[in-house]
Amino acid sequence: MDMQKIRNFCIIAHIDHGKSTLADRLLQFTNTVTDREMQDQLLDNMDLERERGITIKSHAIQMKYDYQGEEHVLNLIDTPGHVDFSYEVSRSIAACEGALLIVDASQGVEAQTISNLYLAMEHNLEIIPVLNKIDLPGAEPEVVADEVIDLIGCDREDIILASGKEGTGVEDILNAVVERIPSPKGNTEEPLQAMIFDSVYNPFRGVEVLFRVFNGTIKKGDKIKFVNTGREYYADEIGVLGMVQQPRDSISAGNVGYLISGIKVAKEVKVGDTITHIKRPCTNAIKGFENVKPMVFAGIYPVDTTEFEELRASMEKLQLNDAALVWEPETSAALGFGFRCGFLGMLHMEIIQERLEREFDMTVITTVPSVQFKALMNDDSYQLINAPSDMPDPNMFKHIEEPYVHASIITKADYVGPVIQLCMEKRGQIKNQVYLTADRVELTFDMPLAEIVFDFFDKLKTISRGYASLDYDLRENKASHMVRLDVMLNGEVVDALSAVVHRDKAYEWGKRLCEKLKELVPRQMFEIAIQAAIGTKIIARETVKAMRKNVLAKCYGGDISRKRKLLDKQKKGKKRMRQVGNVEVPQEAFMAVLKLD
Ligand code: GDP
Ligand code: MG
Repeated sequence: MDMQKIRNFCIIAHIDHGKSTLADRLLQFTNTVTDREMQDQLLDNMDLERERGITIKSHAIQMKYDYQGEEHVLNLIDTPGHVDFSYEVSRSIAACEGALLIVDASQGVEAQTISNLYLAMEHNLEIIPVLNKIDLPGAEPEVVADEVIDLIGCDREDIILASGKEGTGVEDILNAVVERIPSPKGNTEEPLQAMIFDSVYNPFRGVEVLFRVFNGTIKKGDKIKFVNTGREYYADEIGVLGMVQQPRDSISAGNVGYLISGIKVAKEVKVGDTITHIKRPCTNAIKGFENVKPMVFAGIYPVDTTEFEELRASMEKLQLNDAALVWEPETSAALGFGFRCGFLGMLHMEIIQERLEREFDMTVITTVPSVQFKALMNDDSYQLINAPSDMPDPNMFKHIEEPYVHASIITKADYVGPVIQLCMEKRGQIKNQVYLTADRVELTFDMPLAEIVFDFFDKLKTISRGYASLDYDLRENKASHMVRLDVMLNGEVVDALSAVVHRDKAYEWGKRLCEKLKELVPRQMFEIAIQAAIGTKIIARETVKAMRKNVLAKCYGGDISRKRKLLDKQKKGKKRMRQVGNVEVPQEAFMAVLKLD
């Protein structure tokens, strides 16, 4: 394959700006897929992704495009569109020489657009700006073009007008890909150096590794090594990705392909790792490799305690195809046996929860999510805090550190006040305020990750009537005054309701949680004290009064069948209850912490 005829590119777009739709048009135009084969949004092939409208896992597809009578190979590398997966985005970008920057002509530039664009610019990608959805009556191509020009410093003529819906501009885009994006550089004779930018789990064939070759050539049957993990394999099958996999004998520098070598577990394949030959290895691994780390931790418990082993089996299966998911067994006095899980972010956590329910038919309780805190101990060592129960005795440490992010929010000028107020409430510090146009502002903040992972985005949407977008990246740990807040029912600590919170927020948190629990815990035969405490200090209290009458008293003695029915009904109700000491707690109570308002 002549390297001059290859182009590797990705698409950068904010969610819903039309990336998938436009990608489909490119595939149709190049006859990569026939109209008959065409389904909407081909690249999003997981049910869940389709419903959410987000491409969760990135994929790649190869198109053949006839440009001025010469066949070109265009490799489109799809990137995930959510901040939870930003490391994967960075690796996909590193596999390309160019990017289509798609901006909805009725919405303008959004936070996600900017962050991914900056990533692409850092990697020196050629940016092709595209204004999409120009068919919409509300489209303002002139205004949005000004924003784009400001942002990337291009000429007005460089911007392509398109409509993925109507197919406008598709040919212009393909021509621009060939004309403007540089062909890959590299040397096919040098030692093999290929970067893994993605992997796809296939229960029958094992993990499919997607890679971009920078130097050298990989041939079918080669003995290869993944540099960072140190593992060795045979290249049992290699090939390129069309609508289906097309096996090849070799893939050379500049090109993109897949590899199958009997890997059964997703974790063995690390995105960003370098593939090389065992016999003639490359001298350097490709830069930018990172081990992805979970950012959000929560407990997952079966609603029905007898389903623990079943849940374990489900978690094991999930882990086979989700390299980012980590977990270990955990016990809670309140919830019994379960798992402490680490996720890339809140979306990832929701995905896992949903997959457990849909694919494995498990009903689970998820406990309060938390970020990873670090305690600087008296002996200057660090202790990780992934769960409230990990919090060391206050006499044992000097301070607690928490992760901070750099957040960027783009909103309308009208909402600047409320947005700043919300960020301050969330312990944020404003860093910058830039007017993108007369009416649109970019605000940047430093903020604790712990404040963002909860309901920050929902709140932001509400106060800005939907006109705000958010993006963030992790920066550093800062010392913060964190405390462990416990909840007690009749004097007994309910460990599943404990949380690590900032001291200044503990009182408010405790008060609201007690109020919420008062609504959720049903009256029982005795009075129930609900208390919130830091250490031994009670900071809030509510009381659930005792039931006045026995429910059975209603069935004036005689009617035994009615009594039975009532008892049965109570029993069923109990299945969704958890016994804490002598108090019965409904399942919703464990989720209450997520909805404190
Ligand atoms: P993605 O999240 O960036 O992949 O966006 P999608 O391709 O899923 O599109 C988001 C929504 O915008 C869908 O409802 C599409 O039907 C719609 N859409 C995409 N492109 C266009 C377009 O050019 N014009 C109009 N009117 N709607 C579009
Ligand atoms: Mg999409």
